[in-house]
Amino acid sequence: MKYPNKILLEEDEIPTQWYNIAADLSVPMPPPLHPGTREPATGEDFAPLFPKALIEQEMTTERFVDIPGEVLDVYKLWRPTPLFRARRLEKLLDTPAKIFYKYEGVSPAGSHKPNTAVPQVYYNAMEGVKKLTTETGAGQWGSSLAFACAQFGLECEVWQVAASYRAKPYRKTMMEIWGGKVHPSPSKVTEYGRGLLQQDEDHPGSLGIAISEAVSEAVSDDNTRYALGSVLNHVLMHQTIIGEEALLQMAKIGETPDILVGCTGGGSNFGGLAFPFMREKFKGKMYPTVRCVEPSACPTLTKGEYRYDFGDTAGMTPLMKMHTLGHNFIPEPIHAGGLRYHGMAPLVSHIYELGLVEAISIAQKECFAAGVMFAKTEGIVPAPEPTHAIAAAIREALNCKETGEEKTILTALCGHGHLDMSSYEKYLLGEMQDLDLDQNAIQEALEGVPVI
Ligand SMILES: *Cc1c(COP(=O)(O)O)cnc(C)c1O
Repeated sequence: MKYPNKILLEEDEIPTQWYNIAADLSVPMPPPLHPGTREPATGEDFAPLFPKALIEQEMTTERFVDIPGEVLDVYKLWRPTPLFRARRLEKLLDTPAKIFYKYEGVSPAGSHKPNTAVPQVYYNAMEGVKKLTTETGAGQWGSSLAFACAQFGLECEVWQVAASYRAKPYRKTMMEIWGGKVHPSPSKVTEYGRGLLQQDEDHPGSLGIAISEAVSEAVSDDNTRYALGSVLNHVLMHQTIIGEEALLQMAKIGETPDILVGCTGGGSNFGGLAFPFMREKFKGKMYPTVRCVEPSACPTLTKGEYRYDFGDTAGMTPLMKMHTLGHNFIPEPIHAGGLRYHGMAPLVSHIYELGLVEAISIAQKECFAAGVMFAKTEGIVPAPEPTHAIAAAIREALNCKETGEEKTILTALCGHGHLDMSSYEKYLLGEMQDLDLDQNAIQEALEGVPVI
Protein backbone atom coordinates (compact mmCIF):
# COMPACT_ATOMS: atom_id res chain seq x y z
CA MET A 1 0.00 0.00 0.00
CA LYS A 2 1.32 3.43 -0.93
CA TYR A 3 0.94 6.21 1.59
CA PRO A 4 2.58 9.58 2.22
CA ASN A 5 5.48 10.15 4.62
CA LYS A 6 3.24 12.28 6.78
CA ILE A 7 0.08 10.64 8.10
CA LEU A 8 -2.45 13.14 9.40
CA LEU A 9 -5.81 13.02 11.17
CA GLU A 10 -8.63 15.51 10.72
CA GLU A 11 -9.46 17.74 13.67
CA ASP A 12 -12.72 15.86 14.24
CA GLU A 13 -10.88 12.52 14.39
CA ILE A 14 -9.14 13.52 17.63
CA PRO A 15 -9.72 10.84 20.30
CA THR A 16 -12.14 11.98 23.02
CA GLN A 17 -11.04 9.64 25.84
CA TRP A 18 -7.79 8.94 27.68
CA TYR A 19 -6.84 5.32 28.41
CA ASN A 20 -6.06 4.05 31.90
CA ILE A 21 -3.86 0.95 31.62
CA ALA A 22 -4.34 0.18 35.35
CA ALA A 23 -7.79 -1.19 34.41
CA ASP A 24 -6.18 -3.94 32.34
CA LEU A 25 -3.42 -5.14 34.68
CA SER A 26 -3.96 -8.53 36.32
CA VAL A 27 -1.81 -7.57 39.32
CA PRO A 28 -2.95 -4.31 40.99
CA MET A 29 -0.46 -1.49 41.58
CA PRO A 30 1.11 -1.22 45.05
CA PRO A 31 -0.57 1.84 46.68
CA PRO A 32 1.29 5.07 47.55
CA LEU A 33 2.06 5.42 51.28
CA HIS A 34 1.63 8.42 53.59
CA PRO A 35 5.13 9.87 54.25
CA GLY A 36 4.51 10.06 58.02
CA THR A 37 2.38 7.03 58.96
CA ARG A 38 3.62 4.85 56.06
CA GLU A 39 0.05 3.53 55.74
CA PRO A 40 -1.61 3.47 52.29
CA ALA A 41 -2.35 7.09 51.37
CA THR A 42 -5.99 8.16 51.04
CA GLY A 43 -7.45 10.73 48.67
CA GLU A 44 -7.48 13.20 51.58
CA ASP A 45 -3.72 12.91 52.00
CA PHE A 46 -3.34 14.32 48.48
CA ALA A 47 -5.91 17.11 48.91
CA PRO A 48 -3.41 19.85 49.90
CA LEU A 49 -1.53 19.12 46.65
CA PHE A 50 -4.05 18.28 43.94
CA PRO A 51 -7.70 19.04 43.03
CA LYS A 52 -10.29 16.31 43.68
CA ALA A 53 -10.79 15.46 40.01
CA LEU A 54 -7.08 14.65 39.55
CA ILE A 55 -6.91 12.63 42.80
CA GLU A 56 -9.85 10.61 41.47
CA GLN A 57 -8.04 10.06 38.18
CA GLU A 58 -4.91 9.05 40.09
CA MET A 59 -6.81 6.25 41.81
CA THR A 60 -9.41 5.26 39.24
CA THR A 61 -9.71 1.77 37.77
CA GLU A 62 -12.04 2.95 34.97
CA ARG A 63 -10.60 1.93 31.61
CA PHE A 64 -11.46 5.17 29.79
CA VAL A 65 -11.88 8.76 31.01
CA ASP A 66 -13.65 11.41 28.89
CA ILE A 67 -11.55 14.39 27.84
CA PRO A 68 -13.48 17.58 28.75
CA GLY A 69 -14.59 19.74 25.80
CA GLU A 70 -12.64 22.77 27.08
CA VAL A 71 -9.47 20.66 27.14
CA LEU A 72 -10.11 19.35 23.62
CA ASP A 73 -10.54 22.96 22.46
CA VAL A 74 -7.03 23.83 23.70
CA TYR A 75 -5.59 20.52 22.39
CA LYS A 76 -6.85 21.54 18.95
CA LEU A 77 -4.35 24.42 18.86
CA TRP A 78 -1.82 21.75 17.82
CA ARG A 79 -3.52 18.33 17.87
CA PRO A 80 -3.88 15.88 16.22
CA THR A 81 -0.10 15.73 15.78
CA PRO A 82 1.49 14.19 12.66
CA LEU A 83 2.85 10.66 12.42
CA PHE A 84 5.83 10.41 10.05
CA ARG A 85 7.42 7.53 8.21
CA ALA A 86 11.20 8.24 8.38
CA ARG A 87 11.88 7.10 4.81
CA ARG A 88 15.04 9.22 4.40
CA LEU A 89 16.54 7.88 7.61
CA GLU A 90 15.64 4.32 6.53
CA LYS A 91 17.38 4.94 3.22
CA LEU A 92 20.55 6.24 4.85
CA LEU A 93 20.63 3.21 7.15
CA ASP A 94 19.94 0.96 4.16
CA THR A 95 17.56 -1.05 6.31
CA PRO A 96 14.55 -3.18 5.39
CA ALA A 97 12.90 -1.90 8.59
CA LYS A 98 10.18 0.76 8.56
CA ILE A 99 10.63 3.56 11.09
CA PHE A 100 7.68 5.67 12.24
CA TYR A 101 7.71 8.58 14.64
CA LYS A 102 4.89 10.48 16.29
CA TYR A 103 5.96 14.12 16.47
CA GLU A 104 4.97 16.03 19.63
CA GLY A 105 7.28 18.99 19.00
CA VAL A 106 4.46 20.87 17.23
CA SER A 107 2.89 21.89 20.57
CA PRO A 108 3.27 25.52 21.76
CA ALA A 109 5.95 24.53 24.29
CA GLY A 110 7.67 22.23 21.79
CA SER A 111 7.12 18.91 23.58
CA HIS A 112 4.47 16.43 24.75
CA LYS A 113 4.15 18.11 28.17
CA PRO A 114 1.19 20.40 27.33
CA ASN A 115 -0.91 17.21 26.85
CA THR A 116 -1.09 16.94 30.65
CA ALA A 117 -0.48 20.59 31.60
CA VAL A 118 -3.75 21.64 29.93
CA PRO A 119 -6.07 19.16 31.71
CA GLN A 120 -4.26 19.65 35.03
CA VAL A 121 -4.80 23.41 34.90
CA TYR A 122 -8.39 22.92 33.72
CA TYR A 123 -9.36 20.70 36.69
CA ASN A 124 -7.68 23.10 39.12
CA ALA A 125 -9.53 26.04 37.57
CA MET A 126 -12.86 24.16 37.87
CA GLU A 127 -12.26 23.76 41.61
CA GLY A 128 -11.43 27.43 42.15
CA VAL A 129 -7.66 27.12 42.55
CA LYS A 130 -5.91 30.43 41.80
CA LYS A 131 -2.25 29.47 41.55
CA LEU A 132 -0.15 26.44 40.64
CA THR A 133 3.42 25.76 41.69
CA THR A 134 5.80 23.36 40.06
CA GLU A 135 9.43 22.45 39.45
CA THR A 136 11.21 22.24 36.14
CA GLY A 137 14.55 20.75 35.10
CA ALA A 138 15.33 21.55 31.50
CA GLY A 139 12.42 24.01 31.43
CA GLN A 140 10.07 21.97 29.23
CA TRP A 141 7.52 21.27 31.95
CA GLY A 142 7.63 24.77 33.45
CA SER A 143 6.94 26.36 30.09
CA SER A 144 4.13 23.89 29.37
CA LEU A 145 2.44 24.67 32.68
CA ALA A 146 2.90 28.43 32.20
CA PHE A 147 1.27 28.13 28.75
CA ALA A 148 -1.65 26.11 30.18
CA CYS A 149 -2.13 28.51 33.11
CA ALA A 150 -2.40 31.36 30.59
CA GLN A 151 -5.26 29.50 28.88
CA PHE A 152 -7.37 29.30 32.05
CA GLY A 153 -6.25 32.46 33.89
CA LEU A 154 -4.24 30.88 36.73
CA GLU A 155 -1.01 32.16 38.22
CA CYS A 156 2.02 29.93 37.75
CA GLU A 157 5.12 29.83 39.94
CA VAL A 158 8.05 27.66 38.86
CA TRP A 159 11.20 26.47 40.66
CA GLN A 160 13.79 25.80 37.98
CA VAL A 161 16.86 23.70 38.86
CA ALA A 162 19.58 26.33 39.37
CA ALA A 163 22.08 24.75 36.97
CA SER A 164 19.53 24.82 34.15
CA TYR A 165 18.22 28.31 35.19
CA ARG A 166 21.73 29.59 34.47
CA ALA A 167 22.35 27.45 31.37
CA LYS A 168 18.91 27.86 29.71
CA PRO A 169 17.85 31.50 29.95
CA TYR A 170 15.52 31.17 26.93
CA ARG A 171 13.24 28.65 28.65
CA LYS A 172 12.87 31.10 31.52
CA THR A 173 11.89 33.84 29.10
CA MET A 174 9.30 31.52 27.53
CA MET A 175 7.75 30.90 30.93
CA GLU A 176 7.68 34.65 31.59
CA ILE A 177 6.06 35.39 28.21
CA TRP A 178 3.16 33.13 29.28
CA GLY A 179 2.98 34.92 32.64
CA GLY A 180 4.94 32.48 34.79
CA LYS A 181 7.09 33.55 37.74
CA VAL A 182 10.43 31.70 37.83
CA HIS A 183 12.84 31.09 40.76
CA PRO A 184 16.17 29.32 40.58
CA SER A 185 16.13 26.31 42.93
CA PRO A 186 17.36 26.18 45.66
CA SER A 187 15.71 29.59 46.22
CA LYS A 188 15.54 32.14 48.98
CA VAL A 189 11.74 31.88 48.88
CA THR A 190 11.43 28.67 50.93
CA GLU A 191 12.96 27.65 54.22
CA TYR A 192 14.32 24.46 52.69
CA GLY A 193 15.95 26.42 49.84
CA ARG A 194 17.47 28.98 52.23
CA GLY A 195 19.02 26.16 54.26
CA LEU A 196 20.64 24.63 51.18
CA LEU A 197 21.94 28.01 49.98
CA GLN A 198 23.56 28.55 53.38
CA GLN A 199 25.58 25.36 52.84
CA ASP A 200 26.47 26.25 49.24
CA GLU A 201 25.53 29.57 47.67
CA ASP A 202 26.23 28.17 44.17
CA HIS A 203 24.16 25.03 44.79
CA PRO A 204 23.35 23.52 41.33
CA GLY A 205 19.98 22.18 42.57
CA SER A 206 18.18 19.04 41.44
CA LEU A 207 14.67 18.05 40.41
CA GLY A 208 14.07 16.45 43.82
CA ILE A 209 14.99 19.70 45.61
CA ALA A 210 12.87 21.83 43.26
CA ILE A 211 9.89 19.52 43.89
CA SER A 212 10.34 19.97 47.64
CA GLU A 213 10.28 23.76 47.25
CA ALA A 214 7.23 23.82 44.96
CA VAL A 215 5.33 21.40 47.23
CA SER A 216 6.10 23.36 50.40
CA GLU A 217 4.82 26.55 48.77
CA ALA A 218 1.61 24.85 47.60
CA VAL A 219 0.69 23.30 50.95
CA SER A 220 1.19 26.65 52.74
CA ASP A 221 -1.60 28.40 50.80
CA ASP A 222 -5.23 27.32 50.49
CA ASN A 223 -5.72 28.74 46.99
CA THR A 224 -2.54 27.16 45.64
CA ARG A 225 -1.99 23.63 44.43
CA TYR A 226 0.96 21.77 42.95
CA ALA A 227 1.32 20.18 39.49
CA LEU A 228 3.70 17.41 38.46
CA GLY A 229 4.76 16.95 34.84
CA SER A 230 5.47 13.22 34.83
CA VAL A 231 5.56 10.08 37.03
CA LEU A 232 1.97 10.09 38.38
CA ASN A 233 -0.80 7.84 37.02
CA HIS A 234 -3.00 10.73 35.89
CA VAL A 235 -0.10 12.32 33.98
CA LEU A 236 0.59 9.11 32.05
CA MET A 237 -3.12 8.76 31.37
CA HIS A 238 -3.35 12.28 29.87
CA GLN A 239 -0.41 11.44 27.64
CA THR A 240 -2.23 8.45 26.10
CA ILE A 241 -3.72 10.91 23.61
CA ILE A 242 -0.38 10.36 21.79
CA GLY A 243 -0.83 6.61 21.46
CA GLU A 244 -4.57 6.79 20.73
CA GLU A 245 -3.89 9.09 17.77
CA ALA A 246 -0.96 6.95 16.61
CA LEU A 247 -3.18 3.83 16.67
CA LEU A 248 -5.66 5.55 14.34
CA GLN A 249 -2.86 6.79 12.08
CA MET A 250 -1.18 3.37 11.81
CA ALA A 251 -4.56 1.78 11.08
CA LYS A 252 -5.15 4.31 8.26
CA ILE A 253 -2.13 3.01 6.39
CA GLY A 254 -2.56 -0.63 7.37
CA GLU A 255 0.62 -0.89 9.49
CA THR A 256 1.14 -2.39 12.95
CA PRO A 257 4.31 -1.95 15.00
CA ASP A 258 6.61 -4.90 15.78
CA ILE A 259 8.56 -2.82 18.24
CA LEU A 260 7.93 0.36 20.19
CA VAL A 261 10.81 2.34 21.72
CA GLY A 262 10.50 5.40 23.95
CA CYS A 263 12.78 7.50 26.12
CA THR A 264 11.98 7.35 29.83
CA GLY A 265 12.70 10.15 32.27
CA GLY A 266 9.64 9.89 34.49
CA GLY A 267 7.89 7.65 31.96
CA SER A 268 5.13 9.89 30.60
CA ASN A 269 5.86 10.19 26.87
CA PHE A 270 6.77 6.51 26.81
CA GLY A 271 3.57 5.47 28.60
CA GLY A 272 1.54 7.88 26.51
CA LEU A 273 2.64 6.26 23.28
CA ALA A 274 2.93 2.66 24.45
CA PHE A 275 -0.11 2.04 26.69
CA PRO A 276 -2.81 2.16 23.98
CA PHE A 277 -0.73 -0.26 21.86
CA MET A 278 -0.28 -2.51 24.90
CA ARG A 279 -4.09 -2.59 25.30
CA GLU A 280 -4.35 -3.89 21.74
CA LYS A 281 -1.62 -6.40 22.57
CA PHE A 282 -3.59 -7.59 25.63
CA LYS A 283 -6.55 -8.10 23.27
CA GLY A 284 -4.39 -10.17 20.91
CA LYS A 285 -4.69 -7.67 18.05
CA MET A 286 -0.94 -7.02 17.71
CA TYR A 287 2.27 -8.20 19.32
CA PRO A 288 4.77 -5.35 19.59
CA THR A 289 7.86 -5.64 21.78
CA VAL A 290 7.86 -2.57 24.03
CA ARG A 291 11.20 -1.10 25.13
CA CYS A 292 12.12 1.77 27.49
CA VAL A 293 15.33 3.66 26.77
CA GLU A 294 17.13 5.56 29.53
CA PRO A 295 20.45 7.41 29.77
CA SER A 296 23.43 5.42 31.06
CA ALA A 297 24.07 8.28 33.52
CA CYS A 298 20.63 7.92 35.16
CA PRO A 299 19.62 4.28 34.64
CA THR A 300 16.60 4.08 36.92
CA LEU A 301 14.99 0.92 35.53
CA THR A 302 18.12 -0.99 34.59
CA LYS A 303 20.25 -0.19 37.67
CA GLY A 304 17.82 1.10 40.32
CA GLU A 305 15.98 -0.90 42.97
CA TYR A 306 12.22 -1.50 42.99
CA ARG A 307 11.08 -0.20 46.37
CA TYR A 308 9.17 2.54 48.15
CA ASP A 309 10.87 5.94 47.93
CA PHE A 310 9.99 9.61 48.12
CA GLY A 311 9.33 11.58 44.95
CA ASP A 312 11.36 14.54 46.28
CA THR A 313 14.60 15.12 48.15
CA ALA A 314 13.18 16.55 51.39
CA GLY A 315 10.79 13.60 51.82
CA MET A 316 7.51 15.56 51.74
CA THR A 317 5.69 13.59 49.03
CA PRO A 318 3.89 10.28 49.54
CA LEU A 319 6.12 7.22 49.17
CA MET A 320 5.72 5.48 45.83
CA LYS A 321 6.80 2.00 44.87
CA MET A 322 9.06 2.52 41.89
CA HIS A 323 12.48 1.89 40.45
CA THR A 324 14.71 4.40 42.16
CA LEU A 325 18.35 5.38 42.44
CA GLY A 326 17.54 6.94 45.82
CA HIS A 327 15.86 10.33 46.41
CA ASN A 328 19.26 11.81 47.34
CA PHE A 329 20.83 10.70 44.08
CA ILE A 330 21.98 13.64 41.96
CA PRO A 331 22.88 12.42 38.48
CA GLU A 332 25.75 13.91 36.51
CA PRO A 333 24.66 16.98 34.52
CA ILE A 334 24.03 15.19 31.22
CA HIS A 335 22.47 17.08 28.36
CA ALA A 336 19.11 15.33 28.39
CA GLY A 337 17.95 17.24 31.49
CA GLY A 338 14.45 15.74 31.25
CA LEU A 339 15.84 12.25 31.87
CA ARG A 340 17.65 13.05 35.13
CA TYR A 341 14.95 12.09 37.65
CA HIS A 342 15.95 9.64 40.44
CA GLY A 343 12.73 7.61 40.16
CA MET A 344 10.38 6.21 37.53
CA ALA A 345 6.60 6.30 37.13
CA PRO A 346 5.12 3.65 39.46
CA LEU A 347 3.00 2.45 36.51
CA VAL A 348 6.04 1.94 34.26
CA SER A 349 7.95 0.32 37.15
CA HIS A 350 5.03 -2.02 37.82
CA ILE A 351 4.66 -3.20 34.22
CA TYR A 352 8.44 -3.61 33.99
CA GLU A 353 8.33 -5.89 37.05
CA LEU A 354 5.46 -7.80 35.43
CA GLY A 355 7.70 -8.39 32.41
CA LEU A 356 5.40 -6.50 30.03
CA VAL A 357 8.14 -4.11 28.86
CA GLU A 358 11.93 -4.21 28.40
CA ALA A 359 14.51 -1.56 29.29
CA ILE A 360 17.95 -0.59 27.99
CA SER A 361 20.30 2.32 28.65
CA ILE A 362 22.37 4.27 26.10
CA ALA A 363 25.23 6.76 26.65
CA GLN A 364 24.83 10.33 25.43
CA LYS A 365 27.36 10.47 22.59
CA GLU A 366 25.59 7.69 20.69
CA CYS A 367 22.32 9.56 21.28
CA PHE A 368 23.60 12.89 19.92
CA ALA A 369 25.10 11.09 16.92
CA ALA A 370 21.64 9.61 16.31
CA GLY A 371 20.06 13.06 16.76
CA VAL A 372 22.37 14.61 14.16
CA MET A 373 21.76 11.74 11.72
CA PHE A 374 18.01 12.20 12.24
CA ALA A 375 18.20 15.97 11.67
CA LYS A 376 20.24 15.54 8.48
CA THR A 377 17.75 13.09 6.99
CA GLU A 378 14.32 13.94 8.45
CA GLY A 379 15.01 17.65 9.01
CA ILE A 380 13.78 18.00 12.59
CA VAL A 381 16.37 18.70 15.31
CA PRO A 382 15.26 16.45 18.17
CA ALA A 383 15.43 17.41 21.85
CA PRO A 384 18.28 15.56 23.62
CA GLU A 385 15.77 13.32 25.47
CA PRO A 386 14.17 11.65 22.42
CA THR A 387 17.58 11.16 20.81
CA HIS A 388 17.74 8.17 23.20
CA ALA A 389 14.67 6.69 21.52
CA ILE A 390 16.04 7.51 18.07
CA ALA A 391 19.37 5.82 18.92
CA ALA A 392 17.44 2.72 20.01
CA ALA A 393 15.35 2.78 16.81
CA ILE A 394 18.55 3.05 14.73
CA ARG A 395 20.12 0.11 16.61
CA GLU A 396 17.00 -1.94 15.84
CA ALA A 397 16.96 -0.87 12.17
CA LEU A 398 20.65 -1.79 11.74
CA ASN A 399 19.92 -5.13 13.36
CA CYS A 400 17.21 -5.69 10.75
CA LYS A 401 19.78 -4.94 8.06
CA GLU A 402 21.89 -7.82 9.45
CA THR A 403 19.04 -10.28 9.72
CA GLY A 404 16.96 -9.12 6.76
CA GLU A 405 13.87 -8.74 8.97
CA GLU A 406 11.34 -6.13 7.84
CA LYS A 407 10.31 -4.91 11.25
CA THR A 408 8.03 -1.93 11.79
CA ILE A 409 9.49 0.37 14.46
CA LEU A 410 7.46 3.09 16.17
CA THR A 411 8.71 5.81 18.48
CA ALA A 412 7.70 9.19 19.87
CA LEU A 413 9.73 12.22 18.89
CA CYS A 414 8.51 13.91 22.05
CA GLY A 415 10.09 17.31 21.52
CA HIS A 416 12.26 19.49 19.31
CA GLY A 417 15.69 20.71 20.36
CA HIS A 418 15.53 24.35 19.30
CA LEU A 419 16.45 25.54 22.79
CA ASP A 420 19.15 22.90 23.24
CA MET A 421 21.70 24.30 20.83
CA SER A 422 24.46 24.63 23.42
CA SER A 423 24.30 20.85 23.94
CA TYR A 424 24.50 20.18 20.20
CA GLU A 425 27.34 22.68 19.95
CA LYS A 426 29.32 20.71 22.57
CA TYR A 427 28.70 17.53 20.62
CA LEU A 428 29.74 19.06 17.30
CA LEU A 429 32.93 20.48 18.84
CA GLY A 430 33.80 16.99 20.09
CA GLU A 431 33.64 18.17 23.70
CA MET A 432 30.90 15.84 24.87
CA GLN A 433 31.87 13.08 27.29
CA ASP A 434 30.18 9.83 28.16
CA LEU A 435 30.04 9.99 31.91
CA ASP A 436 30.95 6.97 33.95
CA LEU A 437 28.21 5.97 36.30
CA ASP A 438 29.27 6.37 39.91
CA GLN A 439 28.17 3.08 41.44
CA ASN A 440 29.16 4.33 44.91
CA ALA A 441 26.92 7.38 44.57
CA ILE A 442 23.98 5.10 43.77
CA GLN A 443 24.81 2.82 46.68
CA GLU A 444 25.07 5.79 49.01
CA ALA A 445 21.76 7.25 47.82
CA LEU A 446 20.03 3.88 48.14
CA GLU A 447 21.11 3.74 51.76
CA GLY A 448 18.97 6.83 52.34
CA VAL A 449 15.81 5.16 51.04
CA PRO A 450 13.40 4.26 53.86
CA VAL A 451 13.22 0.59 54.79
CA ILE A 452 9.59 -0.54 54.51
C1 LIG B 1 10.15 16.09 30.20
C2 LIG B 1 10.62 15.50 28.97
C3 LIG B 1 11.00 14.16 28.92
C4 LIG B 1 11.03 13.25 30.10
O1 LIG B 1 9.78 13.02 30.70
P1 LIG B 1 8.92 11.71 30.45
O2 LIG B 1 7.89 11.80 31.53
O3 LIG B 1 9.80 10.52 30.62
O4 LIG B 1 8.35 11.82 29.09
C5 LIG B 1 11.42 13.65 27.71
N1 LIG B 1 11.46 14.41 26.60
C6 LIG B 1 11.08 15.71 26.61
C7 LIG B 1 11.15 16.47 25.33
C8 LIG B 1 10.65 16.30 27.79
O5 LIG B 1 10.28 17.57 27.79
